[in-house]
Amino acid sequence: MDLNLTNVSPQVASTENQPEKVRVLILGSGPAGLSAALYAARANLDPVVLSGLEIGGQVSLTYVVENYPGFPDGIGGMEMVDLFQKQAERFGARVEFDLATEVDLSERPFQVKTQNGKNYLAQTLIISTGASAVHLNVPGEGELTGRGVSYCATCDGWFFKDKKVMVIGGGDSALEEGIFLTRYADSVTIVHRRDQLRAGPILEGRARTNPKVDFIWNTVVSEIQGNGTVEAVRLLDVMTGEERESPIQGIFIFIGHTPNTALFKSQLELDEQGYLVVDERMRTNVPGVFAAGEVADPHFRQVVTSAGMGAAAAMSAGHFLDEHVGYQN
Ligand code: NAP
Repeated sequence: MDLNLTNVSPQVASTENQPEKVRVLILGSGPAGLSAALYAARANLDPVVLSGLEIGGQVSLTYVVENYPGFPDGIGGMEMVDLFQKQAERFGARVEFDLATEVDLSERPFQVKTQNGKNYLAQTLIISTGASAVHLNVPGEGELTGRGVSYCATCDGWFFKDKKVMVIGGGDSALEEGIFLTRYADSVTIVHRRDQLRAGPILEGRARTNPKVDFIWNTVVSEIQGNGTVEAVRLLDVMTGEERESPIQGIFIFIGHTPNTALFKSQLELDEQGYLVVDERMRTNVPGVFAAGEVADPHFRQVVTSAGMGAAAAMSAGHFLDEHVGYQN
């Protein structure tokens, strides 16, 4: 069903019984969501962004971003998010610190309920809910999270001043965060399940030449031990099958991310890894629903590619509204 919004205000404040009607509702406030907000705002579509639990998503946890064009000296992740948000708001985007908890995509306008008890009726939806850190799922990990087990060096590195820490993973995140941790930690041991890194050569070079960094190859963690805080890990050599215990005070886990698509599982097409399937115009299989950024990108997962996808999704949403709803200015 097409509901024509041309006779109603683009944003009607929701009351208990009256949902807020929006043309473009954006779920997530990472580079994809905020870029979509910027483009939608500049197209006079009055977008509303539901920030999710963490404004800025993963990039806000990154100490410095060095590969986003326009910042030759790099830029702090938090600062970058702040700039993205300010730029989108300057053109009329509204960012709400709220989390979508229920979506109904069975007809348009789409219904979205939030943690703060709000209801939205959205003519178009841009999903940019990002991805979350994968856990090792070994004994001790859950109990000791926040007590020596961490998924964010920028957030927790300071607590490990002069301590010995381990970083798990062999990708860009593991190396970048491991190098960052050398600011605080006495030593950083990178434990990787193979004997070759997945990370790119620049980070590999920096890690290998950093005197505080060493590597343990072909090894996985089988248990994290400690009484209240992390004291040791059990390491399993995958080549020999030998297990040993290694004393350690902190363990940082960077073994990839999983897309945040649980809300949409039965309503949108997902690939076998759980990413939202989009076409080259960021369209999902439901007309009017678009997706951008890591939630729909198993390949690139960069700030710049996510931002590009967000911009594209907003332009597609604009075309969709043109064709199916019309504008009121
Ligand atoms: P990733 O590239 O998927 O790397 C994950 C790493 O964890 C891999 O080395 C993988 O091992 C290992 N791993 C996976 N599951 C494991 C398990 N159960 N136990 C032990 N190890 C496990 O993830 P990422 O490093 O988070 O990077 C994600 C994306 O962001 C990539 O595209 C990356 O290039 C990008 N990124 C870029 C930068 C930068 O350019 N500065 C910084 C951060 C991230 P295998 O290698 O054996 O698969």
